[in-house]
Amino acid sequence: MTNPLHDAVFGPSADRSTPLLLLADGPMTGRAFTDLSQSVAAALVQAGVRPGDRVAAQVAKTPAALALYAAAVRLGAVFLPLNTAYTAAEVDYFLRDATPRVLVHDPRYQGRLPEGVAGLTLDPAGRGSAIGDGRCTEVAARGNDDLAALLYTSGTTGRSKGAMLTHGNLLSNAAVLVREWGITGDDVLIHALPIFHTHGLFVACNTCLLAGAPMIWQAAFDAAAVVAAMPRATFMMGVPTFYTRLLGQPGLADAARGMRLFVSGSAPLLAETHRAWEAETGHRILERYGMTETNMNTSNPLHGDRRPGTVGRPLPGVDLRLGAGDVIEVRGPNVFRGYWNLPDKTAEDLRPDGWFVTGDVGRIDADGYVTIVGRSKDMIITGGLNVYPVEVEAALDAVPGVRESAVIGLPHPDFGEAVFAVIAADDPAVGPAALAAVVTGLARFKQPKAAVVVAELPRNAMGKVQKAALRAAYSGWFSDNSA
Ligand code: AMP
Repeated sequence: MTNPLHDAVFGPSADRSTPLLLLADGPMTGRAFTDLSQSVAAALVQAGVRPGDRVAAQVAKTPAALALYAAAVRLGAVFLPLNTAYTAAEVDYFLRDATPRVLVHDPRYQGRLPEGVAGLTLDPAGRGSAIGDGRCTEVAARGNDDLAALLYTSGTTGRSKGAMLTHGNLLSNAAVLVREWGITGDDVLIHALPIFHTHGLFVACNTCLLAGAPMIWQAAFDAAAVVAAMPRATFMMGVPTFYTRLLGQPGLADAARGMRLFVSGSAPLLAETHRAWEAETGHRILERYGMTETNMNTSNPLHGDRRPGTVGRPLPGVDLRLGAGDVIEVRGPNVFRGYWNLPDKTAEDLRPDGWFVTGDVGRIDADGYVTIVGRSKDMIITGGLNVYPVEVEAALDAVPGVRESAVIGLPHPDFGEAVFAVIAADDPAVGPAALAAVVTGLARFKQPKAAVVVAELPRNAMGKVQKAALRAAYSGWFSDNSA
């Protein structure tokens, strides 16, 4: 009997007395972690979980939360982690859509569970009814094509959709990343990402577990704590905001000296951040690109030229091409099985021949390096002409006083959509100055017709700018302000 993900990722550490997690109060060995996950599995079985059932979780990042993932995999269930920021009303939507057998939640959770969904608790200290009294040591038989996880997309461009990920999807991608990034049992990862997202859960945990590399387990990102962990670590995976917040931290350069690798992904890393990081630490950040539906698609090389502003080349086994409108399409063992309960949406984005239309607009240079130009849904069509926000944002960001910017299209009575800039700056006068400054560098139709200055751009937990929220907030700008 086999269970591909369990056997490769969780099984090998079962008897190890070496650390799997490094916690503030000491190490947790592979054996202790396995015991914990077997106790969680016992509670899940008690709650009625059978192979193929969804196991939903909205819990704080604790060792027990990772053990819950291991337990779901052991039972042949489909793990469904939810962002801890979701309100009870939002969680209710996922429960009704995914119909899990159980929701593991914080004891303070206020929502009512729909009929047929059992509740188990897990608190931020890792205690609750999700830790059973007994142990479940059996492992359910599964195949590579069976679902291992249902991961909802973050919904920055629309409603969240459940991406169905198989054992084969997760395992093949973890194996490729272990090879590409040279991860071994001698590595130690700084894990400061959330574990309800593909980056923190799959890219980080699956690779380390597969390679037998312990993780320094931090409940949330804290710049000083990350710097303090560096002397005990060899590598880190982060979102771009990690890097911008770490820059300038006291002691960073010394602490980073013994590290071998910094990886960035989930949102665009500005070339400027890449250069600032190298200037301060001597390390060139390795940027990669992926998404919930496909796991990781491309990566800059471990050995060789890491090019700022690019996401590197397709990973081995991943086919990548540009389709209509230069939208990136990918095919390979990493690509998901489709959207849960959405056959029409699946048929639209995932072709019968296996190519998935990512919605990211890209460029591929002569050496095969891919650059992400933006999301096709974020593209602005103004007076019939296409404007890619990234280009306008780069021009605005270069203006002194502009910290960063988000360029969106807003309904306009004349142009259909008009280019609008949201600028993060301390001084409101930077808005008009930035608009004036980009006039010489950008074609007239690309120049923002108006701008607002804000203290901070709205971001989700993974550091992605929430353009849908910005479009909603300013939707009436040109109709209400039209002269
Ligand atoms: P998610 O499914 O939440 O992981 O979001 C995936 C999306 O994040 C991709 O489709 C891209 O738009 C974006 N993304 C991920 N990695 C990168 C990167 N290195 N550079 C630019 N965008 C990225």
